[in-house]
Amino acid sequence: MRIAVLSDVHANLVALDAVLAALRPFDALWHLGDVVGYGPHPDEVVDRLRSAGALGVCGNHDAAAVGRIDTDLFNTDARIAIEWTARRIEPSTRRWLEELPERREEGDFSLVHGSPRDPIWEYVYSTQVARASLAAFSTPYCLVGHTHVPLVFRADGERIQELGPGEDGGLTLDSRRALVNPGSVGQPRDRDPRAAGMTIDTERRTVTWHRITYDIARTQEAMRQVGLPGRLVERLSFGV
Ligand code: ZN
Repeated sequence: MRIAVLSDVHANLVALDAVLAALRPFDALWHLGDVVGYGPHPDEVVDRLRSAGALGVCGNHDAAAVGRIDTDLFNTDARIAIEWTARRIEPSTRRWLEELPERREEGDFSLVHGSPRDPIWEYVYSTQVARASLAAFSTPYCLVGHTHVPLVFRADGERIQELGPGEDGGLTLDSRRALVNPGSVGQPRDRDPRAAGMTIDTERRTVTWHRITYDIARTQEAMRQVGLPGRLVERLSFGV
């Protein structure tokens, strides 16, 4: 089975369409939350994911856009974008976002947005957080998003290994427990502005990262048209 795994789409429809086209064909589509926030196309992105049959979890921006958590917890630009999103979305988009669970298990994988300890807010960005997180789920592997950086933390005996996607862009799944982050579709933050996505081949037990060029200027133009903050527009050019 070939599974496409996406995270942090952030209402960037142009990036999502490019990623879906690049990763097809797949047998299942999973997302790790932050479907909306920052970007200009929340309804369209939810529509795309819904019609592709995507299974996923709730991110902090999704939760805030439907009033499940307070927008005071966000920085100013993020808050402005969330408030714009909350005003704009259709009732059907709101319902779809409201129904996203905080965590789910699919086969060998747990899915969360932040961390298995704190699915909405915690960032798995250090070996220290990874060590605690690796003890907080019961499946062999856990898929996480939220940092917008493609990365793996793997338990190797007492050691925690931190692995990037590497030159061949891949990882083989073995008996070692791992936290795996696909990176962000709609707002990458690893100084590579291309959209990120990941595929899992469950027969070969391989994980492959992909970077996909998309028309960044089109998304930026749509953001300017609806008056989203300039800093959010600019950062897409740099992948920060
Ligand atoms: Zn995010």
